[in-house]
Amino acid sequence: MQDESIFDELNEECGVFGVVGHPQAAQLAYYGLHALQHRGQESAGIVTTDGEKFSIIRNMGLVSEVFNNKNLQNLIGDTAIGHVRYSTTGASHLSNVQPLVFNYAHGEIAIATNGNLVNGNRLRQELEEAGSIFQTTTDTEVIAHLIARSKASTMEEKVKETLNQLVGAYALLILTNDELYVAQDPHSLRPLSMGILSGAYVFASETCAFDVIGAEYIREVEPGELLILNKEGMRLSRFAEKKARAICSFEYIYFARPDSDISEINVHSARKRLGRQLFLEAPIEADVVTGVPDSSTSAAIGYAEASGIPYELGLIKNRYVGRTFIQPSQELREQGVKMKLSAVRKVVEGKRVVMVDDSIVRGTTSRRIVNMLREAGATEVHVRISSPPVKNPCFYGIDTAEREQLIAATHTLEEIRQAITADSLSFLTPKGMVQAIGRKSDDPNYGHCLACFTGEYPTEIEKDVALVGGSC
Ligand code: AMP
Ligand code: SF4
Repeated sequence: MQDESIFDELNEECGVFGVVGHPQAAQLAYYGLHALQHRGQESAGIVTTDGEKFSIIRNMGLVSEVFNNKNLQNLIGDTAIGHVRYSTTGASHLSNVQPLVFNYAHGEIAIATNGNLVNGNRLRQELEEAGSIFQTTTDTEVIAHLIARSKASTMEEKVKETLNQLVGAYALLILTNDELYVAQDPHSLRPLSMGILSGAYVFASETCAFDVIGAEYIREVEPGELLILNKEGMRLSRFAEKKARAICSFEYIYFARPDSDISEINVHSARKRLGRQLFLEAPIEADVVTGVPDSSTSAAIGYAEASGIPYELGLIKNRYVGRTFIQPSQELREQGVKMKLSAVRKVVEGKRVVMVDDSIVRGTTSRRIVNMLREAGATEVHVRISSPPVKNPCFYGIDTAEREQLIAATHTLEEIRQAITADSLSFLTPKGMVQAIGRKSDDPNYGHCLACFTGEYPTEIEKDVALVGGSC
């Protein structure tokens, strides 16, 4: 559970990890998932195969809570897939914990995904009408039913036929008793990289998972690509034409870990450039620049460097706020018990502060932080946001809330400034953001998804598409 009473945090997404043909597959998956923990803190799971049968551990909780030395030894085999998940509350129960595991006529299948299908509801309805009985409320189960029902003669064909029916974002790992299938949606909305460790191929949502196990990065899984790995090695295939890439720009802005690289662009460096660009677009005279730890620290450093205004630790984060800490009573809350973030009085007192944050979604966080800085004695608080205003919901696996809850969808810039009680407020432009991230934006294969900012979704959006909750 997140500490919503202090800061109304939104939910994050999911992370996947896979390894094929390594004697320590389960341990590697454990370390890999640990590095991906920021992508989902609600549940974790690993499924291994010894070539004939699965071993499975899945539970609610952090990676370090779900696994221990003893139970990791029960995960037998040299091939593993793993998953960390954060779903919206409605869908957070054990049966939804990934990897999902199914028995069908031809053996076992385990599936781990990151993303969200925009046609998941319709496919589910059609499958239910055709007699499928669903055990979970996730989109991922749709994939299993489609594979199980496919009349194609080989598993590869069944998987391809299935993937061709999916619309949306999916970085996908499908494990059978003796093969791993790795697929990336035709737009590459969510990151998925391939690496190698002692001859064994590894896959992860973020490259920070490779660093922790000492694997070498090879490349990203291409849009529309399907990789098939087994004892004989890896076979490259494709299930769809590569469409223009549309990697989620929020991965660079907020989600991914700063030490990860997405498309060979380091996330920390991209955030610093976002901060620099923000200064170019929205300069201000001030005494100190501070970030909101940890996600906007890099952007704040960039803003400070470009402006020449010193970067200071005006806010610090209490790292030890557990997921289950005791909620402060209303009375303590009103007295200002801030369990998660504190302003550093000596740094901000009597100062004109530039507070850089990575995004404003509902506007709650910024208002509270501006307030906190003023209480600590800041004379002016200028808010600079290293992304454009979020005006549209995300249907691709990120919980950016429904449209009505997005402050920028219903308020003007001046109204938002007033709502968060800042002395001034500026956002980055979409153009400035794309330039600063530094992907080859003139190359049609290297685009970003900007839909939550611009409303231009890279795929069709079906009418009854579910906001995150069914998947991750
Ligand atoms: P809000 O209070 O709704 O404006 O939330 C904005 C804050 O939440 C920013 O400080 C971001 O760092 C963080 N944030 C933005 N998007 C998400 C998300 N999808 N999940 C969790 N936190 C987020
Ligand atoms: Fe990312 Fe926004 Fe696109 Fe969703 S809509 S994938 S959050 S850029």
